[in-house]
Amino acid sequence: MKNVVVLGSTGSIGKAALDVISRHPGKLSVYGIAGSRHKNLLIKQVMKYRPRFVVFSGENTGKNRIEKTECLYGEESLEFLATLPETDIVVMAISGLAGLRCTLKSLEQGKTVALATKEIVVCAGHLLSGKKGKILPVDSEHNAIFQILDRENSGVSDITLTASGGPFLNYKGDLGKVSAKQVLSHPVWKMGKRISVDSATMMNKGLELIEAFYLFGVSKENINVVLHPQAVVHGFVRFCDGFVKAVLSIPDMRYSINYCLNYPERTDCGMSELDISRIKDLSFYSVKSGMFPCFDLAKEALKKGGSYLTALNAADDEAVRMFLEGSISFDRIPVLVEKVLGKHREVCVDTPDDILALDCQIREQVRATADLFFR
Ligand code: MG
Repeated sequence: MKNVVVLGSTGSIGKAALDVISRHPGKLSVYGIAGSRHKNLLIKQVMKYRPRFVVFSGENTGKNRIEKTECLYGEESLEFLATLPETDIVVMAISGLAGLRCTLKSLEQGKTVALATKEIVVCAGHLLSGKKGKILPVDSEHNAIFQILDRENSGVSDITLTASGGPFLNYKGDLGKVSAKQVLSHPVWKMGKRISVDSATMMNKGLELIEAFYLFGVSKENINVVLHPQAVVHGFVRFCDGFVKAVLSIPDMRYSINYCLNYPERTDCGMSELDISRIKDLSFYSVKSGMFPCFDLAKEALKKGGSYLTALNAADDEAVRMFLEGSISFDRIPVLVEKVLGKHREVCVDTPDDILALDCQIREQVRATADLFFR
């Protein structure tokens, strides 16, 4: 039996992970869960999955148990839970950088981390290597590439991630006038708010490009992105003899989560199979520069590397937040990110503290820059 700890269990990836675990009784068990924003849902998950531990965010409220589940509180409890000897695999699905220290600690302790949090790889990719534990990428594109390279990693020429293109791929209207609701209705994937906005601007794919660089050790020039609206092919690896391998599945995050939780075995999780005879159309288009300004900004930041990556992530996250709260229009997200990155000068990001401090500074700069230019 593998004991799984799901950090960020109330988000879309966390919920999918719990669903996958429940499909493998006797093989996988929910050992611990943690969530912050949706406390009621977290309590419901405790009642349903009966983990050994639950971690609530914030201060100890004095509640020590919910039935047989022990209640813990705060960030340190995340690390405690993730590094317990009984914990076999940690699903890191806490959005943002709140799980950064915990991820590093888990890897140092030799834990397997099914990593879904992009921000951690983008900002701290240089701190993840050389640790005892193994990272299994949950994101569908990186999971696809991982599945190929894990079995065959010599003679690789390049890798390609696919991008659905989001809701505005062929949009002819004014992007300055689109509403948050339009932006949040992704044609293929059902996801959290920031990643939905990032998919619409293609910043999401830019961040994935950066992640791929750190996860697979392929040089920056050999990581490509193609638009593929059906989101059935998730990634390609091209080999030096001209062959290309691809990984396909129905677009549902539970497939890659199931792969990670059962790794290195392959296990049926009882989900529907991709019916190849019914795939009518698989189309691929190149991404031209200028098509998605956010994607171009991410590529530029990857070239510069270092603290530009933390700056990019923080600037985008804050700009997205401002769009969602109605303070800036959708088309100003890249403008704001570009202005802030343009002023950034390389700083040291050798520790989690450095990264978190820079993250805060950049967010303040985003707000100040928006005040200066857009009000
Ligand atoms: Mg993805």
